[in-house]
Amino acid sequence: MKSINIESMLTKAQKLCDQRAVRLTPQRRLALRLMAEQKNAISAYDLLDLLRISEPQAKPPTVYRALDFLLEQGFIHKIESTNSYVVCHHVGEPLHTSALFICDNCGLVTEHHAEGIDQLLKELAEKSHFTIQHSVLETHGICSQCANKAG
Ligand SMILES: [Zn+2]
Ligand SMILES: [Zn+2]
Repeated sequence: MKSINIESMLTKAQKLCDQRAVRLTPQRRLALRLMAEQKNAISAYDLLDLLRISEPQAKPPTVYRALDFLLEQGFIHKIESTNSYVVCHHVGEPLHTSALFICDNCGLVTEHHAEGIDQLLKELAEKSHFTIQHSVLETHGICSQCANKAG
């Protein structure tokens, strides 16, 4: 799994915000950076703890507002099944279905393009005149490292 180049991801995010005429405030940018530094998905409360290191006045609504914004812009994905968040590994790419593989042992989350599934969903949506805004596939299992350790 290639890790994200945080600086170039932030630059891309900034560029997209400029294009969309929305503001990537310093706080939102910091939240995005902190999330990108995580190996695993992070809960809103863990993110709040990290934010408070440099912004002691940050409160839960601060974090939720930042998360909502980042979700809306497609910079992060929400993992419903574990109620946590992960930075998108394809920031700046067109709307995509991401297949998130979640290791139930170590919590590692990896994102994969689900192109075949994308196409299938698109066709299904067209048939029912449904407009897809975003879709995330959450798949639980054991990552290769944990599988190796278990022998
Ligand atoms: Zn993504
Ligand atoms: Zn694992």
